[in-house]
Amino acid sequence: MAGAESTGEPSLLFEHIDLIDEDMAWRRDAFVGVRGDRISYVGTGEPADADAYDGRYDGRGRQLMPALYDAHAHAPMTLLRGYAENLPLQSWLNDRVFPFEARITDQDARWATDLAIAEMVRYGCVSFSDMYYCDDARCESVRDAHVKCNVSRGLTAFGETDYRKIKEYAANEHLFSDWDGAAQGRIKADMCIHAEYTNNEPVCRAVAERTRELGAIMHVHVSETASEVAGCRERHQGRSPVEFLADCGVFDSPTVAAHCVWVDEADMDILQEHGVTVACNPASNMKLASGFAPVPRMLERGMRVALGTDGPASNNAHDMFRDMYLLATVYKGSSKDPSVVTPAQALRAATRAGALAQGRDDCGLVREGFKADLCVLDTSGPSMWPVTDMLANLVYSSTGAEVVLTMCDGVVVYRDGEWPTIDVERAKAGTQAATERIRAELAQGGAR
Ligand SMILES: [Zn+2]
Repeated sequence: MAGAESTGEPSLLFEHIDLIDEDMAWRRDAFVGVRGDRISYVGTGEPADADAYDGRYDGRGRQLMPALYDAHAHAPMTLLRGYAENLPLQSWLNDRVFPFEARITDQDARWATDLAIAEMVRYGCVSFSDMYYCDDARCESVRDAHVKCNVSRGLTAFGETDYRKIKEYAANEHLFSDWDGAAQGRIKADMCIHAEYTNNEPVCRAVAERTRELGAIMHVHVSETASEVAGCRERHQGRSPVEFLADCGVFDSPTVAAHCVWVDEADMDILQEHGVTVACNPASNMKLASGFAPVPRMLERGMRVALGTDGPASNNAHDMFRDMYLLATVYKGSSKDPSVVTPAQALRAATRAGALAQGRDDCGLVREGFKADLCVLDTSGPSMWPVTDMLANLVYSSTGAEVVLTMCDGVVVYRDGEWPTIDVERAKAGTQAATERIRAELAQGGAR
């Protein structure tokens, strides 16, 4: 090894690669160094210590960008992909999803989360905010796959008004004591209220208080459908879900509010005052016919908008590039204004905004000193030519299939059709067997 000394940490130098820089601008022929779990160099010339890198990656014809952060997911719902189709949200949820979910075991959830992560990293995503249950299985999957997750447990309280008597109370305490900060900080525990319509006021207030005590992030579904908002106004003295949750103190902690499709100016005032991140889910909102969130207005106001895939039962994919394309196109259609949601805004929503929403302040940008969460696209194919505006190509032309390498904290988790950290064939077989078993059980109609 000539020139400079190795630090002993694994290191890789991407050379002659085009780059989406920290201002979401396109730069040609750059060099990006990775040492250990961090970005050690970003520049247009070779670093002075170039010889000290273990490996080199020839980036010609390729594009390096920050990895993607999915701000709202339900990874084990991969089991339900293709199971409950073409239904509106309430019957989709009550008649199909809930009975299926009652039969999911920890092992089922493990296969499904492995499979979900394999799909995510295939399309450049390394971190997701996941609301579900089977917490140990999900955390083990995240740890072993070497990705990141803000894990939260969907809390529902229909009759019980004492949070400490609900099973999620003990589960949350276990999640925080055993998993928060695990896997070198790649796993973070979040608190969660599933939604206003699946909870009551005393429980929401108690969960909000416990979230403040823990200094945790809150993850909650908010105003996904028009009927949810109308029902909330009936249940809670004319208040919208945003007003109700704010009154309960839910937004006094850093919050990721999924959907926010049916929010008005007063709601957006509250969300903005509290610095709430809206996790927009364009595919899910269209597929379940929930509607179109006022994303252009949110961006105009300077609200933080991140991007989520939601679950594979309502999307039906964990491909953030698909949702990024939809984010940048459907709200032009719904607002009848082609100037709204620029490619840079869509890219930022899918990267930096998601990282910040997850409390990962040193993630989501290609910047020296930041965590090495990166993806590389092979942009030599016909759909990415000619190059007039690479940002436009990445958002409007890419399908995510161009991703050839995904790295999380300096570790390659996907490269050229291979998943070094996940046994994908085992995850596929396990998920297929689990979903067939559950469908057979449901067909027999036996109670569980
Ligand atoms: Zn959701």
